[in-house]
Formats: sequence, C-alpha cells, structure tokens
Amino acid sequence: MKKQCLECKEEFMGRADKKYCSTSCRSTANNKLNRDAINFVRNINNILRKNRRILADLNPEGKARVHKDKLLGNGFKFSYFTNIYQTKNGNTYYFVYDFGYLALDNGFYTLVRRQSYVE
Ligand SMILES: [Zn+2]
Repeated sequence: MKKQCLECKEEFMGRADKKYCSTSCRSTANNKLNRDAINFVRNINNILRKNRRILADLNPEGKARVHKDKLLGNGFKFSYFTNIYQTKNGNTYYFVYDFGYLALDNGFYTLVRRQSYVE
C-alpha cells in the first residue's frame, strides 16, 4: 500500500497503520510531541511560580490585605492555582502552593500563608 510519511511527506510502501517511512521519522515526530507536552507543562509551572512569588512579595508577614489591581498589576493570573480550601463557614481560599488568598468585598483580598501541607 502506498502511503505518505507524516513527518517527511515522502511516499513509501507499508501497512495501512504505518504512519512514518522510517524509525528516524517516527522518533522525530514523537520527539516533537514530547517537546510540546514538556513546554506546556513548563509554561504552566512558570505561571504558578510567578503567581506564588507575587503572593509572597505582597505578603511578607504571613497575612496581608491587598486590592485586586495590585495583584493584576504585578501580572497575577487568577486562573492558575494549585488547590482550593473551603472553610466551614463557606469561605473559599485559593492557594498557590503555600500562599493563598480569599476574596473580600470591594475588590480586596486577604492574603494568607499556610504552614503545613493539607490533603
Ligand atoms: Zn519519513
């Protein structure tokens, strides 16, 4: 069966389920896929690390109160966090590793720091 290699676009003869003309083309293609996955993870790790640093800088004492504009101005990305902690009275804390925040009224946030890992 005549096929076209997905990597080098050369035609080759092979079984219907064969996608690449050679092991070299197959491994080149796999490496590209792996690289994309690694970059994806790396980019998100960088965002999380930056978010944590912003929270740490604004909260040197372990507790602080800041306005949303200050977080956004520093490049904080609210969609990236590592875990959520819900208190008994219904407050939701968002954590980026050990640094967390709780939304207050009027665009303000309470910043906290958690000392120990919680399941
Ligand atoms: Zn090829």
